[in-house]
Amino acid sequence: MTVSRTTILASVRPWGLDSADLVIEGEAIAAVLPAGSGRPEGAEVIDGRGLLALPGLVNAHAHADKSWWGAPWVSYGGEATTQGRIAHERAERGALGIPSTASTERVLREFLRHGTTAVRSHVDVDLGVGLDGIAVLREASAALGDAVEVEVVAFPQDGVIRREGVLDLLDRAAREGAESIGGLDPCLIDRDPVAQLDGLFDIAARHGCGIDIHLHAGGDLGAFEYDLIVDRTRRAGLIGKVNIAHGFALGQLPPGRQQALLEDFAELGISWSTVAPIRSAPLPWVAMREGGVGIGLGTDGVRDLWSPYGDGDLLRVALDFARLHGVRYDEDFAQVARLATSAAAPYVHREVHDLVPGARADVVLLEAENVPDAIVRAPRRELVLAGGRVVARAGDVLV
Ligand SMILES: [Zn+2]
Repeated sequence: MTVSRTTILASVRPWGLDSADLVIEGEAIAAVLPAGSGRPEGAEVIDGRGLLALPGLVNAHAHADKSWWGAPWVSYGGEATTQGRIAHERAERGALGIPSTASTERVLREFLRHGTTAVRSHVDVDLGVGLDGIAVLREASAALGDAVEVEVVAFPQDGVIRREGVLDLLDRAAREGAESIGGLDPCLIDRDPVAQLDGLFDIAARHGCGIDIHLHAGGDLGAFEYDLIVDRTRRAGLIGKVNIAHGFALGQLPPGRQQALLEDFAELGISWSTVAPIRSAPLPWVAMREGGVGIGLGTDGVRDLWSPYGDGDLLRVALDFARLHGVRYDEDFAQVARLATSAAAPYVHREVHDLVPGARADVVLLEAENVPDAIVRAPRRELVLAGGRVVARAGDVLV
């Protein structure tokens, strides 16, 4: 949507610092001025009431296509293993009308209500639904006027090599514009890691898309998968195009092995996304930050046939991340807030995502004293702007 007007978001505190006026031209921030500076004639003024301002939250790992959010409670009836969940989902999703544009839109609205304005969503691609979920996600995003910008990972939730025809589906998804293709547990699900990874890297190299792969394996098995991915990323020259989701093994490895892997990840631009689950081993996040290994935060699925948990609030994921990593110092809280916002720009292919001139005017206002206060309380989002438009106010979505 093109918006050509000047808006002043007046008297806000970017990152909890001094009060400022954000001058917004159309969809982008044009200037950040001390509060009360001269205001252009005819500009629309929105009173920011001295609230804390953060950039729009970036959800680096979602599954917006498969939620039953908004429907009556669905009791989980499958086995509590990864394979059990895969089978349960395939058996039950049709009865719930998943995937559908309406259910996906409900999830995107929930993201928006909580201040998330950009999402990287894994979308199930399998022999049952084909690529329908991708179309559904794009339709749902368009229905909201792209207030939430979505980026697609074509995700083979049911396996790759063990389901003949899935590689062809991923190839088609990449050809038709999916920003990334996904993968899933090459050892534990396909039980053929070389075949799955060779297949994925071949598609990515031919189409120039990214790879964003779910890895749940722990310990040495997980580390073995990282080695295979490092080798193939280097050989294919897919620098900055590979992301590992979950990667539970990394936090479990001895420091020397961790460090060697982090050096490879930094050299090859291999990033990480996490939903900071309780009981998982903390990531070496300080070493990752200092070494230049990107970390994105995600909600993962929200109330779906995998798990009834989650409410779509990325700030609460940031709180979980801070807790899991024992964050105490204000500057570390600020770094966590960056992971949920500005530092996640590459996950949605933005050059810059911050409260600075040139960035898309995605802004979240909260009643909080400072950034640590905002994270530990995760208060209601008072105002959300996306592309310079007010899209949510006092917790209600307006689009
Ligand atoms: Zn996931």
